Amino acid sequence: MDKEEMLLIINDTILNFKKDINKPILMFLNKERFSRYLDMMELEKHLEKTPCFVAEMKGGDILYYCEEIINNLTKNFSHAEKKLFIQGITLHELLHIKNKIHVFTGEEAVFSEKLVDKELKAFYPRQHAILDLVTMTK
Ligand SMILES: [Zn+2]
Repeated sequence: MDKEEMLLIINDTILNFKKDINKPILMFLNKERFSRYLDMMELEKHLEKTPCFVAEMKGGDILYYCEEIINNLTKNFSHAEKKLFIQGITLHELLHIKNKIHVFTGEEAVFSEKLVDKELKAFYPRQHAILDLVTMTK
C-alpha cells in the first residue's frame, strides 16, 4: 500500500475518532530517519515492530509513520486487513493523546500501554485483534 492511501485511512480515522482531542500533525519518515527519531525519543521500542509513534511538541502532537515498516509488518495481510491495521495503529496513538499520561518511569510506561490496549480492545475490537496478530509490544 502506498503512502497516499495510508494518509487517507489515517485522516479518516482521526476524523471519526469520538474523543475530543486536538488534531495531530502527520508525518511520514523514511526508515533511517524514523529510527533516529525513535532513538531520540528514548522510547525503547523495537524498530521493526514499531510502525508509528506519537511525540508531544509545543505546537501540538505529531504522529510519525514509517511506510516501509507498515508494509513489512502487513506483507501477508489482505487489503482489508491492512486498512484495519493502519486504523488500529492510529487509534492506539490517538488514545495515548486522549489519555495524556506523562511517562517518566518504566512502570508508568507499562501502565500507559496497558490502558490504551484495554481501551482499544473495548472500543475497537476488530482493529485490536489485527494489531494482536503482529504482537506489538508497544
Ligand atoms: Zn503505545
